[in-house]
Amino acid sequence: VKRIAVMTSGGDAAGMNPALRAVVRSAHYVGVEVFGLRRGFAGLCEGDFQELTPKTVSGILQRGGTILRTFRHPEFKEKQVRDAAAEIFHQKQVDGLIIIGGDGSFRGGHLIDAEWNVPVVGVPGTIDNDIPGTDYSIGYDTALNIAVDAVDKIRDTATSHGRIFVVEVMGRNSGMLAVATGLCCGAEEVIVPETPYNFDEIVHDIEQGYNRGKQHAIIIVAEGATSASAVIEQIRVRSTKETRMVVLGHVQRGGSPSAFDRILATRLGHAAVDRLLDGARGVMVGLKANEVVLTPLKKDRNKARAAVEYMLELHHSTR
Ligand code: ADP
Repeated sequence: VKRIAVMTSGGDAAGMNPALRAVVRSAHYVGVEVFGLRRGFAGLCEGDFQELTPKTVSGILQRGGTILRTFRHPEFKEKQVRDAAAEIFHQKQVDGLIIIGGDGSFRGGHLIDAEWNVPVVGVPGTIDNDIPGTDYSIGYDTALNIAVDAVDKIRDTATSHGRIFVVEVMGRNSGMLAVATGLCCGAEEVIVPETPYNFDEIVHDIEQGYNRGKQHAIIIVAEGATSASAVIEQIRVRSTKETRMVVLGHVQRGGSPSAFDRILATRLGHAAVDRLLDGARGVMVGLKANEVVLTPLKKDRNKARAAVEYMLELHHSTR
């Protein structure tokens, strides 16, 4: 292996830059050249390569987002689009590809590995933390800390006014970020897509809380379950309490990566290079019980659900 490529894809996540930095520097350390593909699968299809040197990646360890940028490019699901991209890619004579991204990106990565005969290693980078094969994905810890900080602030005003606050957090189809936020903030209720919810029960529980002397109620809703505005509507037909909503939205994605995410990104970026040079392919590097482990890019997508259910149970029994 003399030359590898790296790209960031899917939703951006804090820690993608430290992961890129680790890939580039670890590769150079052992004499391997690195090319970055700009704009994810879109850049891959156009052959938008950029040489990355240890110097190119200096000063990015503490920066959110990704210097290679990212893009959604659903066209990559079409075989003829991939065939055309393969031709462009092969001209560069790259011996392996590292993809930093989420579930969707790994589906594309699996196809590249299988159809193009290019070894692909994935690095989990998404704030959603919904990828089986790793306890944590890069960006999750930072996003969670931002959400927790925001809800702590909201709680102050909720208490002062005795209001019900509905806070919508990101996570796409996963409730992990939402339930973890709820757990960290002692939210009264958490609504996630993984389990059914019932507004009569939710409002009943909240009213009981007020009767016991609570000064406020915080409901965390995962964007994958429903919207904050839909929850507000449901509460208003059942309660006369003042309600407000906050959609945290994209503030959760930005900002400087947390120390945890920097370490995770550095470990996984380094491991991706190390395993690729070792001959691994069609796999994702992940961290389980503090050890680097490999899982196939093509894997059982339902496993992430059990982790959310466990967190939900933990929230219910400690709220
Ligand atoms: P994430 O990687 O964060 O889950 P997406 O689901 O948006 O983000 O996927 C990122 C990109 O990966 C898509 O825009 C597309 O280019 C590629 N991709 C996603 N799913 C597939 C698929 N089934 N086949 C090929 N490419 C895919």
